[in-house]
Amino acid sequence: MAIEFAQRIRRIPVYPVADAYQLGGDVAMLASNESGFGPLPEVIEAARATLSSANRYPDPSYSALRAGLSERYGVPPARIALGHGSCDILLAAGEALLEPGAEVVYSWPAFSVYPHLAAASGARAIEVPLDAQERHDLEAMASEVTVATRLVLVCNPNNPTSTAVDLAQVEALLQAVPQHVCVILDEAYVEFSLAVGDPEASVELLSRHPNLVLLRTFSKVYGLAGLRVGYALCGSDSFRTAVDQVRQPFYLGTAAQAAAVEALAHQDEVERRVTRTISARLALEEGTRALGLWVAESDANFIWVALPEDGDEAAVVGQLAERGVIVRAGSALGRERRLRVTVGAGTENDRFVAALGEVLG
Ligand code: PMP
Repeated sequence: MAIEFAQRIRRIPVYPVADAYQLGGDVAMLASNESGFGPLPEVIEAARATLSSANRYPDPSYSALRAGLSERYGVPPARIALGHGSCDILLAAGEALLEPGAEVVYSWPAFSVYPHLAAASGARAIEVPLDAQERHDLEAMASEVTVATRLVLVCNPNNPTSTAVDLAQVEALLQAVPQHVCVILDEAYVEFSLAVGDPEASVELLSRHPNLVLLRTFSKVYGLAGLRVGYALCGSDSFRTAVDQVRQPFYLGTAAQAAAVEALAHQDEVERRVTRTISARLALEEGTRALGLWVAESDANFIWVALPEDGDEAAVVGQLAERGVIVRAGSALGRERRLRVTVGAGTENDRFVAALGEVLG
């Protein structure tokens, strides 16, 4: 007899994981929107220095990281939620806010974890289409808010389409949404966004909107995806208390916390990496457009490419892989005949453009 699982296990979509982690060798890994830059030596050393006390549990209040983030953003430590990656906070938010009869509003395609929140809780997912340029339509989202809405998710810049909306549009949405409805602005890629301006700009919105949560991560611009550290800057303490209530107390390892604290202290290097990534992104967009393809206006560390109408997405992704270039197929992310391509380091971007040119003939 097979094990009988909870009903929701049949509803929860399986996350579309990227393959190629087993590949090794000379491969351009452009599938997971990671940073092409490794952690700084000081960050590695800070993590290493914690290992001799690994017999102890982590500080359960994560005070050093909370203090570092509080100092950087001027948000009180009690309004900073932490997590095992920002995904951990997102899932906890779903658990804390949603239940059968409730609704969660988000755009689609957006981050592949959002559908999980409704499926796991039994809430209703209201998926609002992106506009013709693959950007969020925040007015359409606001018009979907009902008495049942508990959560609105805005991915800015949006994964997988790379596009961003400006903060005036975000604020108009916040004004249209009642204050008992939590709005999570998922800013995993905010540091790369010229539309948002700088990563401190949206923090200012918190003072006017206690229902707002800015969800952020050390996985992208800080290059620490493997250590799993996410954080959320919240407009009020209640969100942080609720997401802590539904999780285990020790969600963040000591080494991960130390690495994140150290990474925060190197903002000059972060800015240098952002500048290099943005200029590489512009070159990648230009090279891809020169092949005659439509590319969304990117505000992130990846681009979103439309294949020709008669293009066979699976064949293109496969043939790129044969040439050692790993990208994500759009159909796994909510839109067919698209490619999501991470901005790589060094020659990886030229390698993608050359390989795609060959594949498309
Ligand atoms: N939000 C968005 C939009 C993402 O693309 C990702 C990762 N791909 C995450 C959140 C989660 O990132 P992490 O758990 O590594 O912080």
